[in-house]
Amino acid sequence: MSTLVVVGAQWGDEGKGKVVDVLAEEASVVARFAGGNNAGHTLVVDGRKLITHLVPSGCRYPGTRCVLGAGMVIDPEVFRAEIDELRVLGLLAQDELRVSLDAHVIFPFHRAIDGLREDRASTAERIGTTRRGVGPAYEAKAARRGVRVRDLLDVTRLRERLAKNKDALDHEMQRLGAEDQALDLEALVEQGLGWGRWLGPMACDAGELCARAIRSGEKVLFEGAQGALLDLDHGTYPYVTSSSSIAGGVCTGIGIGPTLIDEVWGITKAYTTRVGRGPFPTRLTGPAGDRLREAGAEYGATTGRPRDCGWLDLPALSRAARLSGMTGLCVTKLDVLAALPEVQICESYEDDVDPGRDGLEQAVPRLRSVPGWGDPAILEGLHAAKDRAGLPAAVRAYLDLIEEHTQVPVVLVSVGPDRAQTLRFADAFS
Ligand code: GDP
Repeated sequence: MSTLVVVGAQWGDEGKGKVVDVLAEEASVVARFAGGNNAGHTLVVDGRKLITHLVPSGCRYPGTRCVLGAGMVIDPEVFRAEIDELRVLGLLAQDELRVSLDAHVIFPFHRAIDGLREDRASTAERIGTTRRGVGPAYEAKAARRGVRVRDLLDVTRLRERLAKNKDALDHEMQRLGAEDQALDLEALVEQGLGWGRWLGPMACDAGELCARAIRSGEKVLFEGAQGALLDLDHGTYPYVTSSSSIAGGVCTGIGIGPTLIDEVWGITKAYTTRVGRGPFPTRLTGPAGDRLREAGAEYGATTGRPRDCGWLDLPALSRAARLSGMTGLCVTKLDVLAALPEVQICESYEDDVDPGRDGLEQAVPRLRSVPGWGDPAILEGLHAAKDRAGLPAAVRAYLDLIEEHTQVPVVLVSVGPDRAQTLRFADAFS
């Protein structure tokens, strides 16, 4: 048995795309278990930047099956465009892509509602969603009126599901000021059936596909979206995503039991970023934050929004490690810190605020300056290192500090966006 779950250990954008891309080379199946096209993974393939929003990051390896699980919400228009782009690059053969019959589908009315709500909300109430309809699609799922991929294959069921949405949403559209946007049931049925025609051949029982692969000894990689602190149940509610972004989400979002999971690797940047609203104790405002944003090119892969930046938050990271039962940590973007004149790290919060018990709203970080950064030799040393012992002393001390606080070994470091700029200290698959 050989399975690895890769999840974000912060508020998303940790560099999961690159790490999954590196690790996927060994896997025969890469399956994504949560989220929709509110996530964006950046891969660099032969120097060319490629952003995938729905297709798992293993898509570049011929023969690797890429699976979109039941826990995802899929916008077929976006999915189609992404597949076309990948095929132009010669990636992703037809039989390498599979979609769960139970994944939910985003319709244009989900996007419309998402945008209208954000527009109408007061600044204080705005969540800062990506306006892609992801939240409303998950809402429909919980309200038992969601449309699944399997519903696109059955006209009676599709019409019945869409009629339920019309009943529920026409009134809300009106209330949000879009009186002229009542749902056109028959047009939506046609649209859904059209999607079903090309999605149908790749639809499957994704849990069974993964379980069978695991049973026959294949290596299966489960790819998370967003990060632990955005998890619907355990994140900084209500400023969270609408799905389960911790490792437990694999079980529900794919349809396998926890006993099939071997390893869980969490991805963290060497500092912290966040987009959207919500608490962020180590957030830097002013020039210090700007410097970190520019050094790390911290602009969203999906929306282009500038990310808020701050120092690494060890109490929050430790909580994320516990929530996912991490067996390894991957630290990305170490090169970004090397460019800065000063680096700090948060080891605890004032007044012993506990992130699980007290939440992060009141957390004031106790920061410690870390010696040795802002030195060009560090960057050179990072790029020249072949193993952990070869890393500059200041970097090793930084990694030691992370391990000491989280009690999770650092298994991989990333020192640049390219897949070659990666050092691995452990095997991904047992
Ligand atoms: P994801 O959603 O977690 O995959 O993260 P994103 O892809 O949105 O953001 C990560 C960004 O950082 C991408 O532009 C990557 O190419 C880039 N990146 C990943 N690892 C490194 C690294 O070690 N150093 C630098 N400088 N950039 C990195």
